[in-house]
Amino acid sequence: MTITIGQRAGLDTIPPYRQGAAPKAVDGLAPFKLSSNENPYPPLPSVVTAVARAASGIHLYPSMSADALAAAVADRWGITAGNIAFGAGSVEVASQIIHAVTNPGDQVMFAWRSFEAYPILATVAGAEPQPVPLTPDGGHDLKAMAAAVTARTRVIFLCNPNNPTGAVLTAAAVEHFLGTVPPDVLVVIDEAYLHFNDHPETAVGVELFRKHSNVVVLHTFSKAYGLAGLRLGYAIGTPELVAGLRKVAIPFAVTALAQEAGLASLQAERELQDRIDVLINERQRVHSGLLEAGLPVRPSGANFLWLDTGVHTEDLAGLFEENAVSVRVFPGEGIRISVGTAEANDRVLAIASQAARLLPRHH
Ligand code: PMP
Repeated sequence: MTITIGQRAGLDTIPPYRQGAAPKAVDGLAPFKLSSNENPYPPLPSVVTAVARAASGIHLYPSMSADALAAAVADRWGITAGNIAFGAGSVEVASQIIHAVTNPGDQVMFAWRSFEAYPILATVAGAEPQPVPLTPDGGHDLKAMAAAVTARTRVIFLCNPNNPTGAVLTAAAVEHFLGTVPPDVLVVIDEAYLHFNDHPETAVGVELFRKHSNVVVLHTFSKAYGLAGLRLGYAIGTPELVAGLRKVAIPFAVTALAQEAGLASLQAERELQDRIDVLINERQRVHSGLLEAGLPVRPSGANFLWLDTGVHTEDLAGLFEENAVSVRVFPGEGIRISVGTAEANDRVLAIASQAARLLPRHH
């Protein structure tokens, strides 16, 4: 007899998180994965050495306080170790925030479309997602978000730059927004792509955190630092919030390998900056090329570009697939293309030159 284990109510309504697809194999073409906003560079030798050294200790549990890493992160941002809560990627820290702050039925607001984990994490935690549509140019509609706050709204995510549209929130816009939301609503500034954001007027999470006690900032080692596979991210918040995040965190989720790799990456930041500069230049090169090809590409402050292809999305997606490039496709909405190596980006531009014929001319 098969016994069916009951599931909690509503579980079947939670969509599974979709990982960026692998590229399709095409004869004669090197494949490129541009679907997960990963860093295309391999880890730095100093980081590999640190991880290899830490490997000899993996029969032991990691330090839950991660003191050495916390001290380095605190030093990097001019804060204290008591302002930092780590997690297995910033996605786990986002989950900690929702678990620590919301009661069942409370609301978690975010722009939509944005990072696809927000509604999933909110629902899993027993909260109610409160998506607020982006403006037509792919930015946060802060006015609509402020107006949508209810007595049950406990947490608001601001994704800067926004994944997947690349839009940047200005400091002035976020300051104004913070002046309009109730001071007991927690505003999370998710800065996963911070290092690629060269917008002169951008909001800067740490500066907002210093001025507003209801601001918490999310950073990750997955993107600019190139440690997506090791899972390391953190929140910068008040000591009170951080103490709560540590309570709801999964014990020992941040491995010693991740801690050592994070430390080595902070020590190698100058070397990593050279790579970041190359990726920013490549983003500009691809952006110009896509525009010249007549494609509806948005300005981006991140390591990816958004094509606002609407109803033509699937046609265009097929072209990428045929050319051994995987991208993130949002049917009926658009396509997100991560910035890769120069060779991968050249392929994207070659695809773009064929793609324009599939679309009405972009103005
Ligand atoms: N926030 C945003 C906006 C992201 O795009 C991502 C990664 N896709 C994350 C958080 C989570 O990254 P990680 O868990 O690897 O730190």
